Amino acid sequence: MPLYDVIVVGAGPSGSTAARLLSESGFRVLLIERARHPRRKVCGGALSLRAVRRYGIPIEEAAEIRDVFLWGPGGAEVVVPSDRPVGYLMPRERLDEILFRRALESGAEAAQGEAVVNVDVSGEGVLVTTTGGRYSARAVVGADGFASRVRESLGLTPRGWFTDNAFCPVCYVPLDSAGELAGDAEFYLGVYGEGYAWIFKHRDHLNIGIGTFLRNYKSHPATLLVEFLQRHSEASSRVLEPPQESRIVGSYIPYNGAIPKTYSERALLVGDSAGFVSTLTGEGIYHAMLSSELAVDVLSRSLEEGDLSEERLSEYQRRWLQEPELGEMLAYGKLLRNLLFKDPRLLSRVLKAASEDAELARLIRDIVFGLKGYKAGAWELARRIPLRVAMDMLLLAPGDVFRLAAGSSSPFFGGGKV
Ligand SMILES: Cc1cc2nc3c(=O)[nH]c(=O)nc-3n(C[C@H](O)[C@H](O)[C@H](O)COP(=O)(O)OP(=O)(O)OC[C@H]3O[C@@H](n4cnc5c(N)ncnc54)[C@H](O)[C@@H]3O)c2cc1C
Repeated sequence: MPLYDVIVVGAGPSGSTAARLLSESGFRVLLIERARHPRRKVCGGALSLRAVRRYGIPIEEAAEIRDVFLWGPGGAEVVVPSDRPVGYLMPRERLDEILFRRALESGAEAAQGEAVVNVDVSGEGVLVTTTGGRYSARAVVGADGFASRVRESLGLTPRGWFTDNAFCPVCYVPLDSAGELAGDAEFYLGVYGEGYAWIFKHRDHLNIGIGTFLRNYKSHPATLLVEFLQRHSEASSRVLEPPQESRIVGSYIPYNGAIPKTYSERALLVGDSAGFVSTLTGEGIYHAMLSSELAVDVLSRSLEEGDLSEERLSEYQRRWLQEPELGEMLAYGKLLRNLLFKDPRLLSRVLKAASEDAELARLIRDIVFGLKGYKAGAWELARRIPLRVAMDMLLLAPGDVFRLAAGSSSPFFGGGKV
């Protein structure tokens, strides 16, 4: 008889949420984490309002994002002011520790400092081998991030996962080495192809990074980040002295959609391991936790029914595909990304129009911060942009405009079907 009902691998936002919800439902859960909390995670630490509200994240420790600065190719720029927070900034070591503690308080057991090296699934159960021992359970939840070992063991990593996704160099600059900012969160859109560079003003430091596809780096990502801070017309005034390259850290982000199959017999994948990150902005904390909610709902009932077959667990994939903030978000985020970043001239014209139209500027801000869903946001954007910019879009990116009109993008990595 397996010892645990479920083993959750990885105690980031997705894993700690899955472990907490499963324990609250009365299941015996083991949460395995290779690091020890509080542990560092390379991230911008931006939390959308929906994440804070839905998951009761304590904002007393967070910095508020009110004013948002958007910069586009050619120097078009706009500040979108707000008298209320539109998001928050919290260091990940703190956020993840809070979520981990909640999982423990709900009754989950934890093995920290142990890395999972293999997962074996059989008719009897799941055998998880770590650097510290072996554990058995009726089912496993893979919540071990971009380079998921669980996904690898189950043979669910798609070809090109590491080369066709995005990478982010990040640095942290203390506030006493910072210059004047134009917003609490600054986005330099399209500065290196699809994606953006960001400068986020946390309570005691600036979090600065670049997020774009690996193929867009013409030099080492750390070198590019230093260059950005030295040479960019606006960004160069934000830090008094650029960081040393050796202080720059980096991490992959699944920016290209979900893996084609997020389930198999006795196993579900959640968060980054499955690719649930906004295909437009890279927001992933909220989607990680939301995917865990859906996974736990399906898994709890499957455990009660005693049916952990692949067929039974495929319900999870149907559920997230139907979920507007997962399936639809992934598909429409790609459409918007293609449209906005296809040609720097387009992005520049959209931002120029936004600098002359406060409503349009707010709409773009709301899409970026998840205050407006991508599908509704895309249609409002189409109605709001000046006719001349819409005509430019049609001329410069006809295929993407038609795909948007037909809603025909795929939420899956590389556009593949299951
Ligand atoms: C540079 C950067 C900036 C970002 N900025 C933001 C942002 O501002 N806002 C936002 O919402 N999202 C942001 N994201 C995305 C966000 O970080 C992820 O989507 C989110 O962390 C996913 O959570 P997760 O729990 O699925 O995975 P993770 O947070 O990656 O957690 C996975 C956990 O699994 C553990 N683990 C890994 N392998 C093993 C193993 N073999 N055995 C045991 N444990 C293992 C890891 O130590 C880790 O604790 C950013 C991502 C990057 C790379």
